[in-house]
Amino acid sequence: MTELTMPSPELAGTTPLTDNQLAQLAGIATSLSREQAIWLSGYFAGLGGTQAPPTVPTAGPDVRLTTILVGSETGNCREVASALAESARAQGIETKIADMADYKPRSLKDEGDLLVITSTHGEGDPPQTALDFFEFLAGRKAPKLPELRFAVLALGDSTYEHFCAAGRQVDSRLEELGGTRLTDLVECDVDYDDDAEAWVETIVSELVASAPAGGEMNFATPVAAANGATPSAFSKKNPFQAEIIENIELTGRGSTKETRHVELSLEGSGLEYRPGDVLGVMPQNDPELVSTLLERLSLSGDAEVTLKKETVTLREALTSRLEITAATPRFLEQWGEVADSSELRELATPDRAKDRIAYLNGHHVLDVVERHPVPGLEPDQFVAGLRPLQPRLYSIASSLAAAPDEVHLTVSTVRYSLHDTPRTGVATGFLAGLTGDEDTVPVYVQSNDHFHLPGDDTPILMIGAGTGVAPYRSFMQEREARGVLGKSWLFFGERNFRSDFLYQLEWQDLFRSGVLDQFDLAFSRDSAEKVYVQDRLRRRGREVYSWLEEGAFVYVCGDANHMAPDVHAALVDIVAEHGGQDSDGAEEYLSEMRRSHRYRLDVY
Ligand code: NDP
Repeated sequence: MTELTMPSPELAGTTPLTDNQLAQLAGIATSLSREQAIWLSGYFAGLGGTQAPPTVPTAGPDVRLTTILVGSETGNCREVASALAESARAQGIETKIADMADYKPRSLKDEGDLLVITSTHGEGDPPQTALDFFEFLAGRKAPKLPELRFAVLALGDSTYEHFCAAGRQVDSRLEELGGTRLTDLVECDVDYDDDAEAWVETIVSELVASAPAGGEMNFATPVAAANGATPSAFSKKNPFQAEIIENIELTGRGSTKETRHVELSLEGSGLEYRPGDVLGVMPQNDPELVSTLLERLSLSGDAEVTLKKETVTLREALTSRLEITAATPRFLEQWGEVADSSELRELATPDRAKDRIAYLNGHHVLDVVERHPVPGLEPDQFVAGLRPLQPRLYSIASSLAAAPDEVHLTVSTVRYSLHDTPRTGVATGFLAGLTGDEDTVPVYVQSNDHFHLPGDDTPILMIGAGTGVAPYRSFMQEREARGVLGKSWLFFGERNFRSDFLYQLEWQDLFRSGVLDQFDLAFSRDSAEKVYVQDRLRRRGREVYSWLEEGAFVYVCGDANHMAPDVHAALVDIVAEHGGQDSDGAEEYLSEMRRSHRYRLDVY
């Protein structure tokens, strides 16, 4: 039975419909279910064509606002948010996507339904851009929310101790403030797609089932009838096979690192990106590691396994479908059962979280199966505990304005030894090994709104260590190609001047041509005492502060655990010293810069 307000004869004079049409409409309306009514409403809105934009809800006594609130550093949460908005819209429910970076937390009390999607970083921290929101929510100023209905989707990585901590925090705090859950918290691992999809489905059906009775509804144009742009043919789910144009070592002879410059062709893909965006790369596992694993497990690569209802050979599964390097808590638990190992079973218990993480850091999948062999293992038993291979994200190092149809990456090959065996990073090793003309790389573009250039000629300060320099090459190419005159200043750090000055000639050319106004370098291993980018910032503190006062944007890119906090501390000191503030005042100065999007981080 529908709960919609029926068209009544009194309406006749106030609508463009004839009496007869109104009577027919009333007849149809009383026979409709809620879903049918919603669909029909959207259908009529869609018939309105280009002149009839979807109804956007406005705050009113009878309208529940449905907000999707996103906290994201890498864009994965934003992607889920868009899927949710689209799916809700297909059911006739209009939602609004808000980013925690811009969200006014005081609006919380006006929300009807709040759907939070957030990731967790480092030691259980919220995304950098969401720090203010989390602080407000945890604090005493957070309002009581008795009317609020909410749901939280937490993205994380189960190989970290504080898995999904940020999501858990929002979920429990919203309950504490009086909110009611639309559905329980869902925690997703790095292979979040299926769990996120299921969450989206649950949420949308909850919203449909509980749309306000008798009140106004947030009708929207169903997707089928909407006249939106055609989405790009290539995406995370359907990556483009990009040919390799160039793959060279940037680091010179004698370097203690191997950092590469990789150029890929996007020709024919229709893929576009902006400086600051990132490229998703779908890697393949090292064939040697696959062979070693097969040998240790006494399994044939030709054996068949079933992954998500698809049958593939075990070699294909281990090469292109599953993560076979870092082990996860789920793998430990599952292998503990298969191998009947009390050591692994114990490590899987909740009170051993710290030991478990330490064990995982020191033992890859190969090490676990070597230490706990299983005679007569079935191939499906092995793959059951592994998670799907995930794409890796890299900051784009080029600009389409300078290199149309191309995308460039700066990749530092991760090589180390564990238990006396050489190991290679999954994606960096994969990219390093691709030099043949025939090689292609599956890629897609992910927008990184928080790290874009200012649209005008606002001055920019670019701070980066190691591969963190990549987006700045893109920024400079863009400004040069577009003739943007804004001032720019690069702080770059690496190990040794002679071998590790990435893109040295390009920076020097940009400096000579005036596109780059200043650059300061920190080579940490050229002197007895370490010199880092933050030391260079401090040394130029007075000028740095005057750039900040002029309205410069500050960009920080590279290591999240040490470099970014140390650079932040240096900026606080600079603002305190040259702005005549105490450290609280200086922190607030930088918080304000973050709120107004002038302090931008892309750290990993
Ligand atoms: P690194 O960040 O490892 O090193 C670059 C420079 O930063 C070095 O001179 C290093 O000095 C210095 N440094 C070390 N500690 C600090 C600090 N606290 N503050 C400022 N500078 C510091 O460069 P990479 O390019 O190898 O890696 C960058 C980040 O990307 C890291 O987080 C790394 O884990 C991650 N990564 C990157 C990949 C890629 O290819 N893009 C792949 C996998 C991970 P020193 O070493 O002499 O102390």
